[in-house]
Amino acid sequence: MLYTENKPIEEILDCLGEEKNIFLLACNGCADICETGGQQALTTMKRELEKAGKNVSGTALVDFLCDKMLVATRLAREAKNLQKADSVLALTCGIGVQAVAKVVEKVVHPAANTVSLGGLHGLWPAEELCRACGECVLDYTGGICPIAFCAKNLLNGPCGGSQDGKCEVDKDTDCAWQLIYDRLKSLGKLDNLARIAEAKDWQQSTSLEQRKTKFTKAML
Ligand code: SF4
Ligand code: SF4
Repeated sequence: MLYTENKPIEEILDCLGEEKNIFLLACNGCADICETGGQQALTTMKRELEKAGKNVSGTALVDFLCDKMLVATRLAREAKNLQKADSVLALTCGIGVQAVAKVVEKVVHPAANTVSLGGLHGLWPAEELCRACGECVLDYTGGICPIAFCAKNLLNGPCGGSQDGKCEVDKDTDCAWQLIYDRLKSLGKLDNLARIAEAKDWQQSTSLEQRKTKFTKAML
């Protein structure tokens, strides 16, 4: 179970920028329980985007967005609507955003922050990782998490030790920022690298106990 919280709509609209046609994709797993995904969140987000003058080119609800096979199979039926979209807005956790970014050749924006990994690690069967930092930055890193994949959790590009695409901490591991660069290049989004990320507020990442207390209270 991954706990997520909605990003403010203002932040989401800021990330979408000039992009007009948006494809909405929502997870029906953990995110549904947290009310960041599921049918209701999808309907609400569609209304918010249209109110802000965006065109929703299509929508899809997938049981587990962390499962790339499920995502690819479901999106095969949405090829035309997806093609019309400038980007995808994913109502899911950080793992879900990473999985979707590997399946679609579009910019994938996160609509939520992952704040805790919970007791069980969901159902994702592959290599995507999230450290539940509480301030998801996948929006400008092409769907590759610098918190989970960079040994130094760097947010503003690689350290001086990156060599031939490999991490200086472990020469057998790809440098996360090399992967981010390659991905942004393929998306035509290298200008994202000009953005300066501010120091991270690690208090946004909360413990499982704090989450449980909050969600239990909300359900009473
Ligand atoms: S930036 Fe990484 S660690 Fe933070 S919520 Fe997103 S995927 Fe998770
Ligand atoms: S080499 Fe790349 S992945 Fe390794 S610590 Fe430096 S920036 Fe991070």
